[in-house]
Amino acid sequence: MKIAILGAGVSGLSLARFLVEGGLAADAIHVFEASRSPGGLCASKSIDGFTYDVTGGHILYSKDQAAMSWMQRACGGPDAFVEKARHTRIRFGQRWVNYPFENGLGDLPPEANFECLRGYVAAWHQRQTTKSPAPREFGAWVRWRFGDGIAQHFMDPYNAKVWKRDLDFLTSDWVAGRVPDAPVDDVLRSSVGIRTEGYTHQSTFYYPKSGGFQAITDGIARTVLPRVRLGTAVREIARKGAGFVVNGEEFDLVVSTLSLTFLPDLVPDMPQAVAEACRTLEYNGIVCVLLALDRAEHPDLSWIYLPHAAQGPTNRVTYMSNYAPSLAPKGRSSLLCEVTTPGGAPFPGPELEREIVDGLARAGLIRRDEVLFHDRTETSQAYVVFDHRYAARRHAIFDWMAGFGLLTLGRFGRFEYDNSDQCVIKARELAAQLLERARAGV
Ligand SMILES: Cc1cc2nc3c(=O)[nH]c(=O)nc-3n(C[C@H](O)[C@H](O)[C@H](O)COP(=O)(O)OP(=O)(O)OC[C@H]3O[C@@H](n4cnc5c(N)ncnc54)[C@H](O)[C@@H]3O)c2cc1C
Repeated sequence: MKIAILGAGVSGLSLARFLVEGGLAADAIHVFEASRSPGGLCASKSIDGFTYDVTGGHILYSKDQAAMSWMQRACGGPDAFVEKARHTRIRFGQRWVNYPFENGLGDLPPEANFECLRGYVAAWHQRQTTKSPAPREFGAWVRWRFGDGIAQHFMDPYNAKVWKRDLDFLTSDWVAGRVPDAPVDDVLRSSVGIRTEGYTHQSTFYYPKSGGFQAITDGIARTVLPRVRLGTAVREIARKGAGFVVNGEEFDLVVSTLSLTFLPDLVPDMPQAVAEACRTLEYNGIVCVLLALDRAEHPDLSWIYLPHAAQGPTNRVTYMSNYAPSLAPKGRSSLLCEVTTPGGAPFPGPELEREIVDGLARAGLIRRDEVLFHDRTETSQAYVVFDHRYAARRHAIFDWMAGFGLLTLGRFGRFEYDNSDQCVIKARELAAQLLERARAGV
């Protein structure tokens, strides 16, 4: 069996490695990667002694212990990682508010605390008495779930910054398990000043001691790198007999981790309606700006959320140099600022960096004269946007794909909100199926 894997991000690399570990001959695998280096969205960049993750600070954690251990083993085992306690906060004026927001109401000014608690209890009471179902619109869902106060003080402005769209343009489907859901008692406790913890499954995370998060994909790549054709963009995918042709070369099987939005330009046989479904999938890009700082250390924070317009365009700041000492020169530190962009829109001009620095200075997080330099990386596809036509589009695409026979994997290969561990888990599942097929000779 000769397999083409399109894309050498964590999904494509993991699939290749699982196949080899499962006994498939390495020379049966051919990985096409447009970029000059592997890693995709997991890549990191080093500049003048500072290292940062190019699509925002990445952390390793997983509910699937086997997948996480596999990722760690691939890059030197647990000793190659720093174990960190997650410390996240919301910046609210000049205050720190615990995260998730509803676990931090006691940190708010008294009037805001009252408004948030009143709204939360009213929404809770409304749900209990009317048994109203969760609204499908995300904006309406926020008020149904958290009430007016939390919506107004945090959820609305924060989500407007991230999604760059009217919140009701999004569905509420994606929030299960992602937007933390605190018991009402915890919210009451937090409001009167008793500490409660939300979102505990991420309370500890791991980060490579050196090389940034990319050390993980570099590690996964190590055993399969000779099979990766770097700098080789896929230009055409077509069927030929029982197999496929990629860039004119024949394969028995093709697994694509490329974005579904790219496929209409690569697959000439795609029907018009399916191409339209691919092209209209909604997503956001991201600009990540590293601020290299002439400051020895930061407070013990992992990352913070900046919900308000006065804090500048950044929605999340990672305390990058807190993740591992290797990420900044001795006596220096760094922050990594994320700014999302609506899918397909041009990236902001050089005024962005000034707006970011001004916003962080206003928020009391940095002084302008501490910034040694900044460096930006632009990524055109970072977040899947779950709008109301998302499910119908995917249905049309995967219905056709099942007949066409192209297999897809990965965050944008399947348009799912997957972290790297989930990419690994899905690659492991697909590898098991393909190995079974190879054994059965089909
Ligand atoms: C802001 C942000 C924060 C995140 N935080 C975390 C986190 O904390 N922890 C975590 O585990 N995960 C995190 N993730 C998710 C993680 O980055 C992704 O799940 C993962 O990197 C996706 O890998 P992939 O291989 O599916 O896709 P990609 O990394 O996108 O790989 C696709 C590959 O295809 C290549 N390619 C594209 N076009 C072509 C072509 N025509 N021909 C050949 N090759 C091509 C690309 O260069 C790329 O290398 C985060 C993601 C974002 C955006």
